[in-house]
Amino acid sequence: MTEVNQLNKSELEEQLEQLKKKYESYKEKELALDMSRGKPCPEQVDLSRPMLDLVTSEDLLKTDSGVDVRNYGGLDGLAEAKEFFAPILGVAPAEVIIGGNSSLTMMHDTIARAMLFGVVDSEKPWSKLEKVKFICPSPGYDRHFAICELFGIEMITVDLLEDGPDMDKVEELVKEDATIKGIWCVPKYSNPMGNTFSDEIVNRLAKMETKANDFRIFWDNAYAIHHLTLVHDKLKNIYDACVEAGNENRVFLFASTSKVTFPGAGVAAMAASPDNVTKIKSELSIQTIGPDKMNQLRHVRFFEKEGSLEEHMKKHAELIKPKFDKTIELFEKFLGGKGIATWLSPVGGYFISIDTLDGCAKEVVALAKEAGVTLTGAGATYPYGKDPYDSNIRIAPTFPSLDELEVAIEIFCLCVEIVSIEKKLA
Ligand code: PLP
Repeated sequence: MTEVNQLNKSELEEQLEQLKKKYESYKEKELALDMSRGKPCPEQVDLSRPMLDLVTSEDLLKTDSGVDVRNYGGLDGLAEAKEFFAPILGVAPAEVIIGGNSSLTMMHDTIARAMLFGVVDSEKPWSKLEKVKFICPSPGYDRHFAICELFGIEMITVDLLEDGPDMDKVEELVKEDATIKGIWCVPKYSNPMGNTFSDEIVNRLAKMETKANDFRIFWDNAYAIHHLTLVHDKLKNIYDACVEAGNENRVFLFASTSKVTFPGAGVAAMAASPDNVTKIKSELSIQTIGPDKMNQLRHVRFFEKEGSLEEHMKKHAELIKPKFDKTIELFEKFLGGKGIATWLSPVGGYFISIDTLDGCAKEVVALAKEAGVTLTGAGATYPYGKDPYDSNIRIAPTFPSLDELEVAIEIFCLCVEIVSIEKKLA
């Protein structure tokens, strides 16, 4: 493979002409392929179908511990549901609060409560302060950034490196600035890079000196158990690290079964220190009498029946690993060695993120769209939708079929090549 940089003008022009011909032939097919959001494919959601037969009018609607799920009660969830989530979140069941169907809702509400009432250790509600800032390691999850925008929280972009956020930068910022109240983290198989934070990064986050006494880490462990291979990334337990560092109130942890059972109809949970949990529960008790216990029971029974959550996740991996493999194979085939793009090969999660040459991502996404391939908007992986390098593109390979994916990735690679050569020629 020849690096684009090593080709002369006429060679580049010739290549561009050929690539454009190929592109036009794809365009004529009027395809409609969507790789914009990380959704499980129909075969994946089918895996949890038997769960729907476990809480029926014929079944006993009481838990093993005797709770009648048909009626009110249980502000923080069924004991069995808390036991289910405790090892996923890496805490004791007493530190878990079960929510409704979405961890994103729990994150949004946690910020909303902090704005309205403050958190444990706050002198006043965050909304009464002149400014509130959050650190946003990027590329990151667009919906985290949208929550900050909604509440008027100023976002500070810090690079997400292969082993986690650029901690030199994070430490320098939080040490000096009391208005920085938090940081978003997707620590395992991150959205969109697919990387996992190293032990050193977890330790530094837990220990770092923060000017704000009420600084919080929003630890969105959405992909905690979503391995693609038998050799897993290992993530150090941040709650233990915070306790050890004397900062046990520092972290709010989140997870859900959205990409384990049914997205939008799963169970979400959060965890935190005893003081945090006490405060959150007292505020929650005004908002709700308790979340949906029938769905919690359905989930608890399903995993008892399945035998193990791990086996269930292996079935997911069997369905989606070939899609990740195919994507990487095609990247290597069409883009490898050309010096126009870089990517990681994640061993878990839902995304592959690719970096084009600076200043190309927006054009690549637009060109792919014209040929019928919808990708996550360029820039979406950065605060305010602005990628300072205009280079990061998130690929979500799970939803399309393998055949559709193959065509979509080929078109995508073609677009990366076309835009890169056009840039070189400009
Ligand atoms: N957090 C991350 C990092 C995600 O990628 C997603 C969904 O894509 C969510 C949270 C949404 O989770 P939930 O369905 O529990 O709201």
